Amino acid sequence: MTNKFRYFIANWKMFGNLSSLKSIDNVIKYVKSNPKKKFKLIYCPPYTLLQSFHIKLKKTKINLGAQNCHEETNYGPFTGKINSKMIKSLGAKYVIIGHSENRQDGENDSLINKKIISALKNKLSVIFCVGETLSQKRIKLTRKILMKQLSVGLKNVPINSNIIIAYEPVWSIGTGLIPKKLDLSQNIDFIKAQVKKKLKFKNIKIIYGGSVNPNNIAGLNLIDSIDGYLIGGASQSSKKLIDILRKSVI
Ligand code: PEP
Repeated sequence: MTNKFRYFIANWKMFGNLSSLKSIDNVIKYVKSNPKKKFKLIYCPPYTLLQSFHIKLKKTKINLGAQNCHEETNYGPFTGKINSKMIKSLGAKYVIIGHSENRQDGENDSLINKKIISALKNKLSVIFCVGETLSQKRIKLTRKILMKQLSVGLKNVPINSNIIIAYEPVWSIGTGLIPKKLDLSQNIDFIKAQVKKKLKFKNIKIIYGGSVNPNNIAGLNLIDSIDGYLIGGASQSSKKLIDILRKSVI
């Protein structure tokens, strides 16, 4: 365990209803009773729970984010869609954009770029997901894919924007598999170099996502260049989430 400040993004995906809210009581208690620990926790529940989470988290240091947004900056005739302006009005400060589950649904890099720009315009911080699929990894395309996702996704985005990049190898999401330590640290360093040196972004944090759980977190924490974690499945269990926090932050 190091003294490093870390982000923890809890992505609840398409899970949860009003009665799930009680399940975060212990996490709130943990955060309140550890005010000096160096971390930021951001809950990203489904849209349907944003307002209830906002009310529940109001007097805590826990932040709120959404899991996606429409690319339009303003309101418009887009039935069933939700944009960053609406998300912001519900008290959220963050939005996840480019998650592989949405890329698999047809979102491409240029759509993701539009979403990032519109979310930033509406004053949300962006958690921008990138990562290669298993077949791309197998044919050694990881760096090429990451570079394309980063350069197109961040095109015309101001270099001092509030963006956290989540490196999420698609093959590790929800599978229980995580990258080997050396591969992971090299990929994180590659992303850092591209974003900071090549694209000239300032102050960008790089987090890791993919099957993070209480059993593998200690090993992941040994990689000092990781600024935090995007946690899916395990974040729905307060016990697991608290366990991850306990093992990560002093
Ligand atoms: C995710 O939802 O981005 C994720 C990493 O999920 P999981 O932790 O379940 O692999």
